[in-house]
Amino acid sequence: MKAFDLSQKVALVTGGNGGIGLGIARGLAKAGAAVAVAGRNRQKLSAATAELEGLGATALAVACDVTDAAAVAAMVEETQARLGGPDILVNNAGTNIRKRPEDLAAAEWQQVMDANLTSAFLCAKACYPIMKQAGGGKILNNGSMLSIFGAPWSPAYGASKGGLVQLTRSLAAAWAADNIQVNCILPGWIDTDLTRRARREVDGLNDHVLKRTPAARWGRPEDFEGLAAFFAGPASDFVTGAALPVDGGFSISL
Ligand code: NDP
Repeated sequence: MKAFDLSQKVALVTGGNGGIGLGIARGLAKAGAAVAVAGRNRQKLSAATAELEGLGATALAVACDVTDAAAVAAMVEETQARLGGPDILVNNAGTNIRKRPEDLAAAEWQQVMDANLTSAFLCAKACYPIMKQAGGGKILNNGSMLSIFGAPWSPAYGASKGGLVQLTRSLAAAWAADNIQVNCILPGWIDTDLTRRARREVDGLNDHVLKRTPAARWGRPEDFEGLAAFFAGPASDFVTGAALPVDGGFSISL
């Protein structure tokens, strides 16, 4: 179906070397896009590109720390030089430091804000001139349930993910006339390295998630494949500034 066809398109997925980002990268590759995956861990990058190539896609690994503005500019330049585009940017890289506000150091606050929020601004800004010149583009940001809820253990993470929704709206309003659609997904509890670590740190988390999620299961990276093709393709050409929960009903249930 043409509405979900990404052939001839180039996507850049930050944190595309694992977890949700790799699920998104797989979805984009299956829809026909060439995909650059960016992250810091080179071993994970190689494994991810091998997997995407196994799906028949053109894939590129780009080592990049998205908190570094110069590295972000270089990442976008390398993608453009080796694959073309990017026509599609997915701001998925993210991290958390689980501490109560009174225990969180200012440097830790900054680290989380840089990785989750400032990175998305830097990546979007670096891609904008390319997308504008190409006559359009797609940007998908990865928020969280903590874009809408609060949690005692996540002051910086929550602030960064709430900020991502507002950044999404600002970029969407600014760049709609350039035919660039900017949207945000809000994942519920998804089974990845990040939450495996949380499950080790937080007693009873697994049971809480299963009980609290109406779908009664953890989400999986595969749950993001079709969604990515929707937000990256013509199907979403009149959808911009949206924040879509992908949460098995977590956010609509008491
Ligand atoms: P992962 O730990 O598997 O993914 C995090 C990704 O971000 C990794 O690929 C990591 O790459 C990359 N990353 C982190 N910091 C940087 C950095 N400074 N520069 C470049 N890349 C970086 O966990 P998830 O897949 O769960 O997380 C992906 C996103 O989804 C995050 O934004 C997270 O907040 C969000 N999310 C996850 C939820 C869940 O339940 N799992 C729920 C809601 C949102 P590398 O290891 O190479 O640095």
